[in-house]
Amino acid sequence: MNTIKKDIITYTIDRARNAGFYISIEKGEVIVKAPWYVTNKSIQEIVEEKKKWITEKLRQYEDQNISQRNYIKNKKAQIFGSDYNVIIKYENEKYPKLDIEENKIKITLPNKYKKNDNQDIINILLEKMYNKIAEEEIANQMEKNRIKLGFAPEDYEIKRMKKEFAKCTEDKKIIVNPDIVTLSKEKIEVILLHEFCHIKYKTHGKGFYNLMRRCMPDYKKYEAMF
Ligand SMILES: [Zn+2]
Repeated sequence: MNTIKKDIITYTIDRARNAGFYISIEKGEVIVKAPWYVTNKSIQEIVEEKKKWITEKLRQYEDQNISQRNYIKNKKAQIFGSDYNVIIKYENEKYPKLDIEENKIKITLPNKYKKNDNQDIINILLEKMYNKIAEEEIANQMEKNRIKLGFAPEDYEIKRMKKEFAKCTEDKKIIVNPDIVTLSKEKIEVILLHEFCHIKYKTHGKGFYNLMRRCMPDYKKYEAMF
């Protein structure tokens, strides 16, 4: 398993017999192929040197996963950064149904679906669930930011996107991906504040970061979580 955590890159070393030195990303994992005579210390140094490239590749992999709508991992899905057990049941029902109870997401499918691959139906149910949660959460956070900053975007829209959780358009509109509610509330806050700051400053310059800092003095702590 590989994660981008506070700039530390974890990787698996594969001591292939006749191979040269080679770094690749396979299913989101960093694999370093190295001949037997290259020391672990040298490997670490090369990984450090290639950090920018590796991080970029890992991001790309994560973005792809979002676009493939892989909400469930190890029978769990995330709401506000917390794990919810996804339980799928078949019952004598006419339509698929989804309920949230404590730390469970209960999906009930009609008996007639039993033999099918129901991945698409389950994903649609989860998408609808995230849309509903996002509608309320994003409205609240937009209002919070408006009060804090004293300005607001021309408009905002909730729309599923392939790559971003949120973006600020040329005409100063903020678009938010409803899947943002899989993240913790702190992360959502940082992401939306970031987009609000883009209303005033197009690029990540001094003015942009001054504004970020003014609204959230410890924003760096949260940025490090990504
Ligand atoms: Zn930005």
